[in-house]
Amino acid sequence: MTENGSRRPLEGDSEVRDITVIGAGPVGLITSFWAGMREASSRIVDSLPELGGQLTTLYPEKWIYDVPGFPRIIAKDLVELLREQTIEQFDVPVHPSAGSSARSPTAATSSPGRSSSPAGTAPSSRRSCRATT
Ligand SMILES: Cc1cc2nc3c(=O)[nH]c(=O)nc-3n(C[C@H](O)[C@H](O)[C@H](O)COP(=O)(O)OP(=O)(O)OC[C@H]3O[C@@H](n4cnc5c(N)ncnc54)[C@H](O)[C@@H]3O)c2cc1C
Repeated sequence: MTENGSRRPLEGDSEVRDITVIGAGPVGLITSFWAGMREASSRIVDSLPELGGQLTTLYPEKWIYDVPGFPRIIAKDLVELLREQTIEQFDVPVHPSAGSSARSPTAATSSPGRSSSPAGTAPSSRRSCRATT
């Protein structure tokens, strides 16, 4: 809040948007996608430096078997498709939340996935999101 009580716009983005989505995990990304499909504008705010939430942070190399339409897909590839489907298609800005470090592409470490699913090893390249501050 500013001294006169008005809300401060997100740094570098004074454009009014219909919806602000907190979190750039799969749910936040698909929320912004559906906003775009309904002709609502949106922005996404996240405290992490990359899109994808747990998929990017905890298990980017793991195979996922329960996404409709994909018999199996590597987590980071799903994030890339969600990025293309949402951020690119509807030009959604992604902002760091207050107190988080600047958004920059960083390599997330791989970790074993759920015990019910085997860990994947596909070597597709990691792509970072377009982010604005
Ligand atoms: C090892 C592992 C394997 C898994 N495997 C599968 C699987 O095979 N299939 C499956 O369906 N599910 C799987 N899951 C579960 C799946 O990852 C989650 O259900 C999914 O990530 C939830 O998506 P989400 O967008 O709701 O939240 P998240 O992925 O947790 O993303 C939330 C995002 O919001 C941000 N955020 C939260 N609060 C704030 C805030 N106040 N300000 C700014 N940013 C904020 C976080 O930084 C994060 O980026 C797995 C989970 C784990 C840990």
